[in-house]
Amino acid sequence: MSTFRDGLAVSEGIALGPIRVLRWGVPDVPHETVSAEEVEGEVERFHEARTWAGRRIREIQEGTEERLGSLEARIFDPQLLMLDDAEVVDGTVRYIRENRLSAARAFHWRMLELQARWIRTSNPMVLDRLNDLEDLMTRVLHRLLEMPEPGDLTGGGEPAIVVTDNLTPSLTVQMDPERILGIAADQGTRTSHWAILARSMEIPAVAGLVDVSRTASDGQEGIVDGRVGRFVLDPDDRDRTIFHQRKQQFQEWEEELAEIARLDAVTQDGQPVALRANVDIPAEAQRAVQHGAEGVGLFRTEFLVVGRSSMPQEEEQYLAYRQVTEAFPNRAVVIRTFDLGGDKFPMFLHMPAEENPFLGWRAIRVCLDRLELFRPQLRAILRATAHGDVRIMLPLVNDVEEVVKVRELLSEEEEDLRRKGIPFHSGYKLGILVETPAAALDAAELARHCDFFSIGTNDLIQYTLAVDRTNSRLAHLYNPFHPSVVRQIHQVARVARAAGIEVSVCGEMAANPLGAFLLLGLDITALSVAWPSLPEVKKVIRSFRMEDARASARRALAAATAAEVTECLLEGVGDAVDLGAFSGRWSLPASP
Ligand code: PEP
Ligand code: MG
Repeated sequence: MSTFRDGLAVSEGIALGPIRVLRWGVPDVPHETVSAEEVEGEVERFHEARTWAGRRIREIQEGTEERLGSLEARIFDPQLLMLDDAEVVDGTVRYIRENRLSAARAFHWRMLELQARWIRTSNPMVLDRLNDLEDLMTRVLHRLLEMPEPGDLTGGGEPAIVVTDNLTPSLTVQMDPERILGIAADQGTRTSHWAILARSMEIPAVAGLVDVSRTASDGQEGIVDGRVGRFVLDPDDRDRTIFHQRKQQFQEWEEELAEIARLDAVTQDGQPVALRANVDIPAEAQRAVQHGAEGVGLFRTEFLVVGRSSMPQEEEQYLAYRQVTEAFPNRAVVIRTFDLGGDKFPMFLHMPAEENPFLGWRAIRVCLDRLELFRPQLRAILRATAHGDVRIMLPLVNDVEEVVKVRELLSEEEEDLRRKGIPFHSGYKLGILVETPAAALDAAELARHCDFFSIGTNDLIQYTLAVDRTNSRLAHLYNPFHPSVVRQIHQVARVARAAGIEVSVCGEMAANPLGAFLLLGLDITALSVAWPSLPEVKKVIRSFRMEDARASARRALAAATAAEVTECLLEGVGDAVDLGAFSGRWSLPASP
């Protein structure tokens, strides 16, 4: 009998095929000590292994750059940085000299210590970097233990679905997309480096499957659905039929996509909608253009800091911002300043361990405390304004003072750029993400200081309902249609309109067909969604009338429960939107 498991959809596409269970890992390291005379020889061996590993990683990096591009190649930077990090190098040498450990044992110990320190955080961004650490540790240890280099462990044979506990960036880039049909992994998230690479390589992948690598075995069949994040083990005839339907749907969808990209985002009764893209890395800008984005509604900039051991330079930031801006001539590109803390930690900031990181030192709070990080970013964004309609967006703002302070910083930086003759466009807009109930309730005050609002429903829902957005146990309580959320969105939209500033929504809610219907009904006519969702959302927008959306929104605002809100929306949408095609879930019984 078939079983299935839902995980995280990390790379689009769908695949059916035989399973190959991939087992790899850090090799066992014997506890070996050396004599006093051998100590310096071991130090020497360690440095030789380090030099060798550096060379190999750079080779893999160059190959990645050729095949996939420079951004993907940078994924290997953290490993190179770690290889030269004093904590790693000095710590290992000290263990060899003081404890007379073999180079392999000393390096292993040191890396395990660092790993243990990082594991103490529950932060997914830091946990993702553990994967880089393991990749590096495995490579160096293989050299020191004189084992063959870990390479393409996926073996020869017929094309297969790789099922594994976890992957590393270097194992992933060495996969041949012709032979690897899909990936199902127990660990990993969308931001894991291997997952980013799988997306670039267009290998369908599902992560966070917990224990499939322990239940699956070679030769069994599997289905990976990277659109909805599902893995089916031992599919039966019914699953196969669904697979073929979905595969066909997917292919048709790909074809339709090019068609939809050319169409306007406009409702049946002629209301135009500014449909923009959420972009996490600059390389996604081109994909967003191909998917028909009318600009970028949220450019997350954390990719510049997470996994780095030093602060990003102004020039590097400027080039990244400019790249995205130039992809969208005459369109808005909303750049969000660093949203660090919460679930995103850079290594160099030495963030304190916090009891409640989402209620802690996060986003604008970090930036205003660490001006040496914030000022270069503001300057880089200002410089990017010379190349298009760049707008600056501040995350997690609660208070007017925060906006006022940023305006002061901006005018200081503008002054300096002017003095130095560096071009920028002074008419840019400054706005905020409305993502706390404080900001929503105080929207009228904030509107006096902002040029636009963008409602960040991902956080607004979590802070309103006191439901951690990353806690899967609470997923059923994380409801965008809770009346308290709907009313706040309504209130923010009303205030923005009265103040004459644009209001948009850039949280996931805008990518939900019912969500988009509701938001339009609340007269929010600018939406920003993850770029893969653009065609779907555009299709939704084109399928209903604004009048109907408004009527449903009015009824939803009077509803007493989330279920009632959903009911109003379902009724309002009626047959206009094929919801089944969007939710895309396999209709299978729950696994035993
Ligand atoms: C949000 O909170 O809705 C948002 C768009 O920002 P992020 O998901 O990056 O927190
Ligand atoms: Mg947010």
